[in-house]
Amino acid sequence: MSPILTTLLPLFPPEQLLLPTHPAYAHLTNDYASSLESDFHPACIFRPRNKFDVARFIRAVKPFTDRNEIMFAVRGHGRQSTPGCANISNGVMVDLREVVGIKVRRAAGGGGGGGVVRIGAGERWGDVYNVLAAKGLAVTGSLSEDCGISILSSREGFVCDNVLNFQVVLASGEIVNANANENPDLWMALRGGGNNFGIVTRYDMRTFRQGPIFGGSVSYHHCDLDEQLDLLVKALRNGHATIDTHIRMTMTYQKKWGGYLCTNQVYYTQAVPGPLVLRQFTTMKCEVTSRRTMSMMTMWEAARMRNSDVEEGQTRCAYMNTTVKSDFETLRTAWRVFRGALRGEEEDTEGLLYSLTFLPYPRSMLEKSQKLGGNSLGLHPTSGPLVSVVLATHWRNVEDDEMVLGLMKEVLGRIEDEAARRGTGERFKLMNYSFDFQDPVASYGLQSQLRLLEVSRKYDPSGMFQRAVPGGFKLRGSWGRW
Ligand SMILES: Cc1cc2nc3c(=O)[nH]c(=O)nc-3n(C[C@H](O)[C@H](O)[C@H](O)COP(=O)(O)OP(=O)(O)OC[C@H]3O[C@@H](n4cnc5c(N)ncnc54)[C@H](O)[C@@H]3O)c2cc1C
Repeated sequence: MSPILTTLLPLFPPEQLLLPTHPAYAHLTNDYASSLESDFHPACIFRPRNKFDVARFIRAVKPFTDRNEIMFAVRGHGRQSTPGCANISNGVMVDLREVVGIKVRRAAGGGGGGGVVRIGAGERWGDVYNVLAAKGLAVTGSLSEDCGISILSSREGFVCDNVLNFQVVLASGEIVNANANENPDLWMALRGGGNNFGIVTRYDMRTFRQGPIFGGSVSYHHCDLDEQLDLLVKALRNGHATIDTHIRMTMTYQKKWGGYLCTNQVYYTQAVPGPLVLRQFTTMKCEVTSRRTMSMMTMWEAARMRNSDVEEGQTRCAYMNTTVKSDFETLRTAWRVFRGALRGEEEDTEGLLYSLTFLPYPRSMLEKSQKLGGNSLGLHPTSGPLVSVVLATHWRNVEDDEMVLGLMKEVLGRIEDEAARRGTGERFKLMNYSFDFQDPVASYGLQSQLRLLEVSRKYDPSGMFQRAVPGGFKLRGSWGRW
């Protein structure tokens, strides 16, 4: 038995430290959104139940990580598809799904709600939404653990902007809070800086009053797309039209559809059925009416509606993204590049679901980020409105990995080249949707990157989370050795 296991086994019961022979091991390593992640085979899985377990683990592995004798991965719910970001071969996978608890504090004061909800790192957004909805409250969340986009983001900023306090276990094993008063540099770094500073065991998030919302999706043939893109760009220019709306446009190829289908996922964050501002994105000539899902819904129902076109067996999945200015010609060119790249044999790839999404960052969202104290992303309201261009592909067989990933990279590269040529490219990459060849931290800009490195050196002087946690997006990027 390896020295690290000899050290860890006496510290935790067998149901918290699972070896490959344990009956639950296979399920836990297969339960990722993408099987690109479950291709990894950890030497053991550690399942902490609280912050003290995490701290004990970190203290126990520290001497080994200092000598480069062991590596580990930190896993939330395994929804990010980047290979190895939350799993590892031959190391320890730290699975946080049992670090749970949802506690609403200082709830329901005054007009805005003005409360805080404490969320264990292993909780799921749906459960958080349900607990809060019972009190007429909500939080800006998505499926995302980190700095993500919510359907409330036009009004409430990025998900990470809404974290008032991170409870973190540092590389020393110390448990600290990071908020506006305590360790504010760490607080800012964690707003977008990924798994580079410690293991977050609890997120304390800002709550506000929120009732049901109106939303859903409408699908249509691409004969309507140019008009829809034009409307999207115009809506983004008019800040008032977007503060309560969330609009994302996805173009998807599936062989069984006989080609491409466009889908607008649209939400209005007030209890108004069919608001005028959304009508132009839900009324089109070439609609596929059988796919319409517009209705009043709770936040929980909205979160559950996601990704319904993915079928069993389409387990291999990859996301890549770039950012462009909200410009009609740039978006139209991206769609043409995307559509033109899939040809012949590739169209027959088993289980292929090939999609391009335009996910807007309205100026109101970037302004709200600033009002809520800012983050590490290096985005400024004056650079908006922006559009995140996200490629997401699902397929069935490992033999097709190289072809599919090659195709996606080529499409992304060509979209970036076209945007650069037009002067509408932006360097920013959203970490949640980045693939392993991308460097989201560098995309935040030099100033932010240097600040993150400084914070890392202060809170993790031995570089544990740079060297011993190789998955995810590291700070050093192109900076060479730690
Ligand atoms: C179907 C689908 C829909 C999605 N929709 C959205 C969306 O609407 N908005 C959006 O923003 N994103 C979305 N995403 C992306 C996804 O939500 C994010 O990538 C998110 O980070 C995943 O969270 P997770 O807990 O599953 O993280 P994991 O996949 O488990 O881990 C992701 C990274 O975060 C690190 N990490 C996780 N937990 C911790 C912790 N407690 N402490 C330190 N590091 C940690 C891991 O080490 C890893 O590097 C979607 C993904 C899928 C598959």
